[in-house]
Amino acid sequence: MELGRNLEARTPIELPVEVKPSLMVVVDTEEEFDWQRRNFDRNATGVSAMAELWRAQEICEEFGLAPTYVIDYPIATSPDAVAVLRDFSQRGKAQIGAHLHAWVNPPFDEQLTRANSYQGNLDPALEHRKLTCLLEAIETSFDERPTTHKAGRYGFGKHTAETLLDLGIDIDFSAACGYDFTADQGPNFSRLDAHLYRLGKNGQLLGIPTTGGFTGPLHDFGSKVYSQHNLQSMSGGLLASVLSKSRILERILLSPEGHTLDKMKRLTRALVQRGVRVFTISFHSPTVKPGCTPYTNTARDVANFLDKMRRYFEFFTGRLGGIPTTPQAVKELVRQQGSAKNSHFFVSALASKN
Ligand SMILES: [Zn+2]
Repeated sequence: MELGRNLEARTPIELPVEVKPSLMVVVDTEEEFDWQRRNFDRNATGVSAMAELWRAQEICEEFGLAPTYVIDYPIATSPDAVAVLRDFSQRGKAQIGAHLHAWVNPPFDEQLTRANSYQGNLDPALEHRKLTCLLEAIETSFDERPTTHKAGRYGFGKHTAETLLDLGIDIDFSAACGYDFTADQGPNFSRLDAHLYRLGKNGQLLGIPTTGGFTGPLHDFGSKVYSQHNLQSMSGGLLASVLSKSRILERILLSPEGHTLDKMKRLTRALVQRGVRVFTISFHSPTVKPGCTPYTNTARDVANFLDKMRRYFEFFTGRLGGIPTTPQAVKELVRQQGSAKNSHFFVSALASKN
């Protein structure tokens, strides 16, 4: 399931250089499950890590960042989890979006396979029904319908854009720049850069990608070296590892999960130079509790994870001179830029007549 046709059909949005680097936080807010298990389990729906989420929220608030919690069905239907998030959002310090984990989101009309864990591989009618069910659950719990979405496992498919627009969602975070999931029957974002884009009917869906990409002198070769095809061969995997260790070509996702602070800074600086102005830092909600994801096994790991996040925020808002933003603010910025461009075009068209 390549993003393929949709990726080619997107319209990239370039923001003027004067726009300050802007950062938003997107949290994949979901149940705890066994990350090492190859098979998916419809019964793994525990959300105990939500009780610890305030620890990350507190750091975001310190820097004026109001995270977007994209939440899935087990979260939206857990009174405890909803209470935690309602507290953040009612204080105006967070917003709620949708995140589809197809295997724990009714209706359960598909087989439990790895391919079907990517919503874009489902029959479009079933993807639509699952999203409808999720949005209704969120509306019931929060008295508000979300307008933002991130596909579980980045599983954006050929029909996803139209389905989202049909359901009133106009901002999507599903793309993971630089990453290719085709070996697992997922989409391929290896050639996608970190710029915003428009997609879907009349370009109505605003794509705010999960910031990632390639750094180092050979960054232009990133999508080739990091293609699943290349990584699956022994020599290809070795080459990627040598290039990465020597910093000649690194692939980095803007996430404190599995990426060092230095790497996140290197990625950010490289992308600012390439004209990227909107950044999304992301993580999974269960990482705030030891033993729930591969990134934090102990309480010390959690403390380090949170400290890394804080130090990145210090860098972004300090040295880099960046500012906090939200998906809605970015949408408004893009709208203003669009009309400014049009009026500029109009003015120059008029000028050339005279
Ligand atoms: Zn997820």
